[in-house]
Amino acid sequence: MASKSYRGRLAPSPTGLLHLGHARTFWVAAQRARERDGALVLRNEDLDPHRSRPEFTQAMLEDLRWLGIAWQEGPDCGGPFGPYSQSERRPNYLEAWRRLRDGGFIYPCTCSRKDLAQAASAPNDADDEPIYPGRCRTRTDAADFSDPKGLNWRFRVPDSELIRFTDLNLGAHSYTAGRDFGDFLIWRRDDVPAYQLAVVVDDAAMRITEVVRGADLLKSTARQLLLIRALGYDVPSYFHCQLVRDSEGVRLAKRHDALSICKLREQGLSPCDIVDQFRR
Ligand SMILES: [Zn+2]
Repeated sequence: MASKSYRGRLAPSPTGLLHLGHARTFWVAAQRARERDGALVLRNEDLDPHRSRPEFTQAMLEDLRWLGIAWQEGPDCGGPFGPYSQSERRPNYLEAWRRLRDGGFIYPCTCSRKDLAQAASAPNDADDEPIYPGRCRTRTDAADFSDPKGLNWRFRVPDSELIRFTDLNLGAHSYTAGRDFGDFLIWRRDDVPAYQLAVVVDDAAMRITEVVRGADLLKSTARQLLLIRALGYDVPSYFHCQLVRDSEGVRLAKRHDALSICKLREQGLSPCDIVDQFRR
C-alpha cells in the first residue's frame, strides 16, 4: 500500500551540466516517489551566487525531462511551498538563523582561512569540511547580532554525542560529534547560508518525508539531524544511493570529463539506453 503522503525531492545544484552519477540518484528518487504514489519536488539549489548559473538550471531541467523524470512542484511549475529556488528563500534561512541564535546553538567565528588551515585536522574524507579546532566555540555574544552578515557562523555540536540513524538503503550509521565532524558552518562570511542549513530548512518547509541523495552526504546527515533537533523539525527518512564509479573506480562526480547527460544525448543515446544502465 502506498504511504498516504510521501513527498520526495530532487535537489540539483546548477553549477555544471547534469552528469550520469547525479542523474542516477534523481532517477532513483523519482522511482521511489512513483512507487509510493507520492509527490516529487524539484528544488533548485542555486544558493552560491559565484558558482550557480541560470543556464545550468535550464539545461538541468531539460536533461531531467528528457530522461523521463517528472516532478509536480518546482521552479518551472510552482506549487504550494515555493519559491523553489534557494536563491529566493533567504527569509526562510534568516528566520532559522534567528531561532538558532536565540536558542544558543550557534556562534560567530572570526577565524581567518589561514587560522583554520593551520589548525585544522584533516578529515578522512577529502570532500568533507575540515574539523573546526574550536577557537571561537566559547563565544557567548551571538545575541548581540541582529544579522549574520559579514561573519562565519557555526553550529556548536554536542561534543562526543553519538548520532545514529538507519538509512533505508545503506543501513545503520553512527557518527560522533566533535570527532567525525566538528562545529560546522551554517552561514558563510560572504553572506550565503551554508548548505547544511538551507537543506534542513527547505526540507522541513517543503514537508519532505524522504530524502534520496548520494552516499557522499551520509555524514552530513548526522550534522543535519542536529540542526533538525535544534529547530524542532520532523525528521525525514533517508535513502542514500551508492555513488557511480567508472571502470577505474573513480567517482563520476570527480572526473573532469564526467559523462554529462547532454553529451550522451549528442552521442545518440536514448533515454532508455541511459535508464537501462541505472537499473543494473
Ligand atoms: Zn573561529
